[in-house]
Amino acid sequence: WSSFQRQKKRENRTFTFRNSKHTYNGIPIIAANMDTTGTFEMAQVLSKHTLFTAIHKHYSVEDWKNFAASHPECLEHLAASSGSSNADFEKLCSIVEAVPALKYICLDVANGYSEYFVEFVKSVRGKFPQHTIMAGNVVTGEMVEELILSGADIIKVGIGPGSVCTTRIKTGVGYPQLSAVIECADSAHGLKGHIISDGGCSCPGDVAKAFGAGADFVMMGGMLAGHDQCTGELIEKNGKKYKLFYGMSSDTAMKKYVGGVAEYRASEGRTVEVPYRGDVENTIRDVLGGLRSTCTYVGAAKLKELSRRTTFIRVTQQSSHMFT
Ligand code: 5GP
Repeated sequence: WSSFQRQKKRENRTFTFRNSKHTYNGIPIIAANMDTTGTFEMAQVLSKHTLFTAIHKHYSVEDWKNFAASHPECLEHLAASSGSSNADFEKLCSIVEAVPALKYICLDVANGYSEYFVEFVKSVRGKFPQHTIMAGNVVTGEMVEELILSGADIIKVGIGPGSVCTTRIKTGVGYPQLSAVIECADSAHGLKGHIISDGGCSCPGDVAKAFGAGADFVMMGGMLAGHDQCTGELIEKNGKKYKLFYGMSSDTAMKKYVGGVAEYRASEGRTVEVPYRGDVENTIRDVLGGLRSTCTYVGAAKLKELSRRTTFIRVTQQSSHMFT
């Protein structure tokens, strides 16, 4: 082994999922299933490093077929996303049928606290007994348990922490992400389930903290936005380059896919222009470099050990700034 390969192994994890019995191996970082970041282009780069991509739900079955035929090596580390509507479910079934090598399904709703969603998870499990099912979003232990017992393998945790999410402002609903991860990891692990910490990471240190708090996977949107692999045109303003990034329930996404925000609902996502950051390879290197260094600081030989070597202390500010 070269020292690079040895270092690479360090953040690798192996999990066997509770309900699908499937064994996963890779670096447990996931590109969010937003239409800007959960792209096939992102999956091509991320899967080379064994990182995971939750592909957004707006690709057609034809797109899936073409991608699967031309990039079969990527299929090990990606999931097909679906909402809980009948149309979403029908499309998911067609994708699963068209791409037999696909192993992961990501069932994503803004609010995982409904009997309807629990029944939906049960029916997806009934139809796909061997697929690994990610389901969310929730933020408390009892709902994590309910979804795992209903057939989900990996629970997506986070309500309100997303960088382009305005749920906390529009509705007053949300849960501090670190507390949610600590609580939900405990509940999931008690049942041999797993969790994804979804949203709220703004720097590599935040990713390390999510793992330290017990997350098995960390999902990122904003940190992966603005790259070549993201959907959207480059915008040039005053000599600087930007790319558009927006919440999946923002006005922008609603207009694109359903012809506007439904009248009875407020949009719960914002639209931002993020600085263009080139190839996502550089960002991956930055995140993995940070994570390896975290492990060194706290004395964790592997990522698996990180949560056992982590103590959180309440602070008033997390970073120091230059004195001017
Ligand atoms: P980030 O890594 O940017 O902080 O968070 C990404 C996560 O934000 C996504 O995986 C998803 O859970 C959440 N998210 C994406 N779009 C929206 C939106 O429009 N509204 C809300 N409430 N959350 C969103």
